Formats: sequence, structure tokens, C-alpha cells
Amino acid sequence: MAPSSTYESRTRNLHTVDPEVFSLIQKETERQEYGLEMIPSENFVSEAVLEAMGSVLTNKYAEGQPGKRYYGGCHVVDEVENLASARACELFGVEFANMQPHSGVQANQAVFEAFLKPGDTIMGLRLDQGGHLSHGSPVNFSGKHYKVVAYGVRTTDCLIDPDDVRSLAREHKPKLIIAGASAYSRQIDWKVFREAADEVGAIFLADIAHYAGLVAGGAYASPVPYADLVTTTTHKTMRGPRSGMVMGKLAHQKAINKAVFPGLQGGPHMHTIAAKAVMFKEALSPDFKLYAKQVVENARALSAELIKKGLKIVSDGTDSHLLVMDLRPINVTGKVGEAVLDAVGITGNKNTVPFDPQPPTICSGVRLGTPALTTRGMGVSEMAQVATFIVEALTNVGNESKLSAVRAGVEELSRRFPLYKHRLVK
Ligand SMILES: *Cc1c(COP(=O)(O)O)cnc(C)c1O
Repeated sequence: MAPSSTYESRTRNLHTVDPEVFSLIQKETERQEYGLEMIPSENFVSEAVLEAMGSVLTNKYAEGQPGKRYYGGCHVVDEVENLASARACELFGVEFANMQPHSGVQANQAVFEAFLKPGDTIMGLRLDQGGHLSHGSPVNFSGKHYKVVAYGVRTTDCLIDPDDVRSLAREHKPKLIIAGASAYSRQIDWKVFREAADEVGAIFLADIAHYAGLVAGGAYASPVPYADLVTTTTHKTMRGPRSGMVMGKLAHQKAINKAVFPGLQGGPHMHTIAAKAVMFKEALSPDFKLYAKQVVENARALSAELIKKGLKIVSDGTDSHLLVMDLRPINVTGKVGEAVLDAVGITGNKNTVPFDPQPPTICSGVRLGTPALTTRGMGVSEMAQVATFIVEALTNVGNESKLSAVRAGVEELSRRFPLYKHRLVK
């Protein structure tokens, strides 16, 4: 019998079976514990979410819908999936929620697959002005298989231009209009998109991958009253497992279910769906409302502090969890900015600013967010300290002694807000 076929060998822990992977996980846990995670699309899940993800549900095949599966033995996972969907419906006030998309892009793909034919016209926010790859970038399926019309932001204030949205819709008569973004910090006016869609008979998809947790917690206006379909990731501000979902009105449920399976995917990841159910339970608690509110307060405070210290912020502030620093006034590129922040233990990412003169590999901006720091328990006073670290790092590129002093400050602050320290063996 192969060694892995005995009960004893299968029940040994990771440290014993694979010290190499164990130690890499330890290293990554340390990196998360002793640095400041400020990529706005990242967050820290609870032990309860981790436990569900690391469960035996990963073993189960469950192609199909609850109650209508192509495999036996699904009565337990049926309950898991129904529980997750019901909680999502309660949280967002929607009529149905498909829990099966593996990630945010797959959720969007399901909407395309359900309502469009290749060659149809779609409309989305320009990638270099805050949009997402899956909203029509030429390197993505959405840009390869569909005709894309992209709207942008105004030169004057970097806000989405409702006139641009309306006139492009009238001119090109898209079948699908997408609102939602990855690097747009202000409140999106969902009603503008509903009206534009109605004028030309288009479907309106709101992709709240970034804002979902804030929407759930009441800290960002919900598109649910306006959109035909709402897609999201579940791992960004939602603070759940890495995954996606599609929600909307009952009239669209059948088409979406068919598009996800058998249209695009095989078996759903039941362990992840269980973790989503746990995440929804957490998000339904009063605590989560406070969390969402604090995320936005922290982002506003951080933005104000950075402006006070002389930095430029795209659109001069934020209504959400994120902000984009425009580093041109201090003569630092996004690429260098990201690297120098990384060197002091602050993780952000280089990002184009609207009308960026730099190519996307260099960029003029760095995107930052507060969801992960807020999960650690940080508040407005810590944001002032973080702003100081950021400005000191960005204005001391190449000054090793200064940067190592900032690094020490970052670690000291991180240690005051423990995260997964119980998972560290040393
Ligand atoms: C992050 C994001 C997605 C995609 O999410 P993945 O889970 O990485 O596939 C989709 N849309 C928007 C607007 C996003 O920001």
C-alpha cells in the first residue's frame, strides 16, 4: 500500500509532510503580520473563514444547482449553498444570488455569456482611468470577443462624466453597460447608468468587486435598486474567501445559472462557498457596519493627511476605501513609489492616473486602500502615522538610513495590531 494510503500518513500535519511549503506559508504569514497591507483589493479573513476554506468540502463534486445536481451525495452541500445564497440575498436585498463563480472575472463572464453574442457592443470605464480588465480591455476576453466603447472621466475633476456615458450610449447603442471600477475612489452615480441603459434598451451591470463590503455595510450607495445584474468579488472589502458571485432580479436567474454551469464552469468549489456563507454571516452583524464606516473614515483621513503633507490625490479625496496618489508633483513615478513603499513594509500598487503621460508599466500614481488596516483595528489616529511613513518614504528615495528608520516604525505599528500571530511558530 502506498504510504499516503494509511490513515496515519494522511493525518500527519503539513509541517511533517511538507516542511518546504509549511515554511513558505510561515514566511508569508510573517510578511502579512509585520507590514502594512494597503492594496485596496486585499483584506484579512477571519479564522472562521479560513477554517471553512480548509474543510473537507473541497472533496465534493456538486455540478448543477442545489436539489438538481449531476452527482450523488450532495444533500449536505446543497444546504451549504442554499445557506450562502439566502444570506447574500438578505445582505444585499437581491432576489437571487449565484454562489458558484470562482472569482470576480468569472462572475462578469457569466453575465456576458448569459446576455451577449460575440461581436455585440459593450460599454465600460477605460482601464487607464480606473476601469477593470474584464470591462473591455483588448487583452481580456471582454475586449477580444466584443466590440468595446469606453467612457472616461472629466479632465477637470477626474469624475465619471455622465454626459460622456449618455452620449456614447446613444451613439453606439451597446447591449450591455457596465459601471464599476478598480481605481475610482468616488461614489458612482448608479442612476446615470440606469437611465442611459433604458434609453437604448441595454442591460445594466454594476460590478461592485471593490465596493461590495462598503455597500453591504451601508457606507457606499447600493446599485441594487438600479442594476439588472450585480457582480462582485468576495475577497476585497467583503473580507471573505477569494471568489465571486452574481446577483440580481429573479427574471435573470435562469440565464445566469445556465451561463455559470454548464456554460463556463464545471464543479463549484463547495469549501469556498461554505466560507462565503461564513463571510455573509459576519457581514450581517452590526460589527460589520461599523467596520465599513471605519474603512471609509480611515481612507478620508489618510487622504486628508497626505494632502496636508503636500501630496496630490486624484479627484482630491475619496468616498470609499481607496485613493490614488498622483506622484508627479514630487517627481516620483508609480513604479519607484511602489518599490520604495515596499522597501519600508507598506504594500500598495503602481497605478495610472487619469490622462497619465507614463506607460502602464511605469505609471504616475500609486493606489492605496484602508480595508486591511481597518480589519487590524487601526483608526484615524493611525492613519496620520501611516501618512507620515508614506511621505517620508516617497521623499527619501535612495536614502537607506532614513528608509530603514521608516521600516522600523512600520513594524512597530504593525506589532501593536496583531493579526495572525498565533499562526507563527517563532
Ligand atoms: C478585482 C476586480 C474584478 C476581478 O476579480 P478577480 O477575483 O481577480 O477575478 C472584477 N471587477 C472589478 C471591478 C475588480 O476590481
